[in-house]
Amino acid sequence: YTLRPSAVPDPVMTDPSPLPRGTLYIVSAPSGAGKTSLVAALLEQLDHVALSVSHTTRRPRPGEVEGQHYHFVSAERFLDMIEAGELLEHAKVFDNFYGTSKAAVTAQLKSGHDVILEIDWQGARQVRTAIPECQSIFILPPSRAELERRLRGRGQDDEAVIQRRLRDAESDSTHFREYDYTVVNTDFDEAVRDLESIFRANRLRTVEQEIRYRTMIGSLLAGGAASA
Ligand code: 5GP
Repeated sequence: YTLRPSAVPDPVMTDPSPLPRGTLYIVSAPSGAGKTSLVAALLEQLDHVALSVSHTTRRPRPGEVEGQHYHFVSAERFLDMIEAGELLEHAKVFDNFYGTSKAAVTAQLKSGHDVILEIDWQGARQVRTAIPECQSIFILPPSRAELERRLRGRGQDDEAVIQRRLRDAESDSTHFREYDYTVVNTDFDEAVRDLESIFRANRLRTVEQEIRYRTMIGSLLAGGAASA
């Protein structure tokens, strides 16, 4: 099995027509940076933002719910999805496959939501190629010592496992320069505010606002033209 970019971008995603539709965001981080908690807090703050639920071949962990944390599928089903061009991106991470459904993301964007993909750097590269207008955010831990403390967790893992996690976190972090934004999770609340700022600023871009306020701007400018 070799990695290759997933098929052509869906036409809806590149459709330039002025329909209200969301922005696609990629959020990546080494494990231990706090990505999942930060994204959960962000989702509570902003109601126009939705999370994409990935497909994976890994087994559910205790407490994980099908369709909420992941769609848990067999390796056979996953490879079928790749073959059928159903995935926007896919990657092998820690011996398991992970991928993003093109149809699900397209539907969420079309309904006007900003959509977050919590994916790794390999998937991020594929999404940037398919959808160049996406925005990508990398979350870094505040320091190596703090990362190590977090990865040691409750002290239930042996030293070899912890050392492997540290090495993986380090190699994942080397990709942060490929991202548009970098958020350092020193203080949790501040990191959430940083993330929020990125989403808010993007929605204020003129191209977005012109679509959102088309009617108001139309009458504003027509009025101006009449009195000029
Ligand atoms: P976990 O198994 O701990 O939930 O996730 C392991 C890694 O897989 C994380 O770095 C996560 O960002 C990444 N991941 C989760 N879903 C996807 C996906 O759909 N595509 C890619 N490329 N990576 C994913």
